[in-house]
Amino acid sequence: MDIISHGLYGWAVFGNKNRKEFWLSIGFWILPDFLTFGLPFAINIITMLSGGSGSIFGQAGHHNIDAKYIDAIYNITHSLIIRGIVFWALWRIYKKPMKASFARLLHILIDIPTHSLAFFATPFLWPIFNYKFDGIPRSNKIIFIPNIIVLIILYSIYMYKKFHKTKKTK
Ligand SMILES: [Zn+2]
Repeated sequence: MDIISHGLYGWAVFGNKNRKEFWLSIGFWILPDFLTFGLPFAINIITMLSGGSGSIFGQAGHHNIDAKYIDAIYNITHSLIIRGIVFWALWRIYKKPMKASFARLLHILIDIPTHSLAFFATPFLWPIFNYKFDGIPRSNKIIFIPNIIVLIILYSIYMYKKFHKTKKTK
């Protein structure tokens, strides 16, 4: 799934929580893609500005983004196994499960069926298994249209709840 839809899903699901939890959830939700695409993008811009030969979109490659470390970051940020370990570690540290980190779990679960082998299939079992599900990309209308419908439904529920909340407080 694309980063904008991820952000919108994060907003809709966690939008009526308290401010801190809300921003934490949005952060957890877009973090996997931000680290994978945003960080290399920023590094490329800096390299180009400082006279280096960084190219934002790379030359060839199966996903047209030319850097080995992007695959490494993608594996780490999109693995359910790594997410489970981090979740468990945070639970141990804070003595309670971190609710906001469920946003990252949902991100990975949405990505599995919406990425094909041709473009960043989700390495959800990494590093134990290399299996990746050959999903249907978001650009395909089978995903694109239901994605918009689901977002409209989620936002209708969100607005309805918000409207009723402000009515109650009046
Ligand atoms: Zn993702």
